[in-house]
Amino acid sequence: MTFRVFQVDPIDWMMPYEYEHEAMQKLGGELIIGNCQSDTDVIEQAQGAEILLLSWQPLITPRAMSALSHCRLIIRWGVGYDMIDADAAAERGIAVANTPSYCTEDVAEHAIALLTAGARRVPWFQERMRQGGWPQAQANPIYRMRGRTLGIIGIGRIGSAVAWRARGLGLRVIAYDKYLKDDEVRARQAEPVSLDQLLAEADYISIHVPLNKETRHMVDAAVLQAMKPGALLINTSRGPVIDEQALIRVLAGGHLAGAALDVFEEEPLAPDSPLRQMEHVILTPHYGAYSVQSWPDMRVELCQAIADWVQDGWSKQVVNPWVRPNLRPRMPVEA
Ligand code: NAD
Repeated sequence: MTFRVFQVDPIDWMMPYEYEHEAMQKLGGELIIGNCQSDTDVIEQAQGAEILLLSWQPLITPRAMSALSHCRLIIRWGVGYDMIDADAAAERGIAVANTPSYCTEDVAEHAIALLTAGARRVPWFQERMRQGGWPQAQANPIYRMRGRTLGIIGIGRIGSAVAWRARGLGLRVIAYDKYLKDDEVRARQAEPVSLDQLLAEADYISIHVPLNKETRHMVDAAVLQAMKPGALLINTSRGPVIDEQALIRVLAGGHLAGAALDVFEEEPLAPDSPLRQMEHVILTPHYGAYSVQSWPDMRVELCQAIADWVQDGWSKQVVNPWVRPNLRPRMPVEA
């Protein structure tokens, strides 16, 4: 055995991690399934592991990174790696990677599903039909989507996949992305605009930025109020990108047509959250990434990152590449 991989917080449906055990064996390594509830558990259980796998919980703290001298790579099962401090990892010579591509199409499809359901008010009608009603005459304003404007905030992998689909619906697509040049935004089938212009012009806004210090509460009360009256807000990125309390207030005030949310500031969403009672709000339980195809793709993508790491000493899925010159040296594997 030449290297050890440690799964910090296993997920029930993935047990017993048969695919991963087999993949690690083929590479000459070993996978250990942990059961950690705290960073102290991680420090105790993950000793000797070169690679740590994390599902969701923020358990690999800087304290754990410092204490685990064998650790050189942390991989997040998923796209967003906001529960790992990638800067703190780099300072300690540890690379952080993710599985960036397995669900791009799925999240884009989910965002489009929320957009079309919200624009056509499908859940509102469904609820009344279930109650025995026939609410044809109470449709409130429903606008034809063709010719209206979708504003995308963050036009990376998922944002571009949304833009491509939205063009097919006949929408005008505009996008604000702080880190892309105008030509790059145009190449993704969207008109580049400033955030202010996007807020003023978009009938629908779909958020696709990562969660980090800069984007936490990026959509605050001022941004929500600057949105076009009657606009629909869609979020499939991360809950804390929106100030949820401010959103609840703005929705209650009637400035927006509604919101369609797959992600929340706290998950699971509290049973008594006012969002659950608002009839112009569509809610799904953070499952945008899921499809029959995406879960197996995620497993392949993660194991490929490990194969590259073992064979080439690096993976293109590393998200803090500035660590490379200071990467920790490999330590001998203890029996
Ligand atoms: P990506 O890195 O390809 O794209 C993110 C884009 O946001 C980039 O183009 C980046 O330049 C831009 N950006 C970053 N900071 C910005 C800022 N301050 N203002 C404007 N633009 C900014 O990522 P992706 O694959 O498109 O995924 C986006 C996010 O979606 C992930 O980080 C993750 O949190 C979330 N996600 C959610 C689900 C789900 O199940 N709902 C699944 C996968 C991913």
